[in-house]
Amino acid sequence: METVLAFDVGGTKTSCALVANGKILCKKEKATVGSNTAEDFVQQIFKMGQSWIDKADKVAVATLGLVEGGCWSAPTLNLIDGKKFPLANKLTKLFHKNVTIVNDAQAAAWGEYKFGAGKTKDMLFVTVSTGVGGGLVSSGRLITGKTGLAGHIGHIQINPHGLECTCGRKGCLQAYVSGESISFAAQPYHPGATTKNVFEQAEDGKDWAKDILHTSASLLTTAISNVKSILDIEIAVIGGSVGLAKGYIGMLQKEMLKEDDLYSVKITEAVLGSDAGLIGAASLD
Ligand code: ADP
Ligand code: ZN
Repeated sequence: METVLAFDVGGTKTSCALVANGKILCKKEKATVGSNTAEDFVQQIFKMGQSWIDKADKVAVATLGLVEGGCWSAPTLNLIDGKKFPLANKLTKLFHKNVTIVNDAQAAAWGEYKFGAGKTKDMLFVTVSTGVGGGLVSSGRLITGKTGLAGHIGHIQINPHGLECTCGRKGCLQAYVSGESISFAAQPYHPGATTKNVFEQAEDGKDWAKDILHTSASLLTTAISNVKSILDIEIAVIGGSVGLAKGYIGMLQKEMLKEDDLYSVKITEAVLGSDAGLIGAASLD
């Protein structure tokens, strides 16, 4: 059985694990290095994995940002060398093992497909967290695309004159659906409110909070239906701290009932939690 040294590099934390057949054997986490060079990310990954590399047959990295042919671009991190950085090559030289790299939400989609909630060959994974990420499995294959953009549902543009997105464009879905956008929309009603506070206030019956969550859920549901019209997905697996917050999936399911059967997609909860990226990256061929 193959053992993989897997990493999940996120904006706030980086995880490292040994994974075999979809199971985490051991895992450690560290705050992601606060640096403006991709080289420092390489060093952090190497240092975290060094003591376990001898137990592994190969290395797999799930990371925020875009992955194209082993190169990594992380526009949101503002790295001076963070455009098409040869991450796979650099790590291969350090670990002396084969290294695969993949976008984190795409990796999580694959993890959920192989070992979690993905019980069909055509599925969309959506993580509603600080941002909105996604990954697509079609005909039993992870679709990453040539430039790594496939499945990034958060950057479907819903209003070209709308709110600014972290990607620099205006009116991306993420700017209306994400955890960050939910807390932003709450500020006039509840200065300093976190996303969790908005959920609490909605539970408490406050209309303003219910409206904000309804907007998020209803726009995401429409986007999921639109993905069905392109790829005929059967299910959407929802993860992320916002996606899994109490009541959110119920709202998506309720909104989906308004869709015609042809465009309706079954909504289910992700089951691998924060391990989906590690497990998915480790299970890619
Ligand atoms: P990341 O964005 O780093 O992948 P998460 O999936 O944890 O991490 O998402 C973080 C977002 O989820 C933030 O916007 C945060 O405010 C929000 N959040 C965290 N916990 C909760 C909760 N219990 N209920 C609602 N929102 C939450
Ligand atoms: Zn965007």
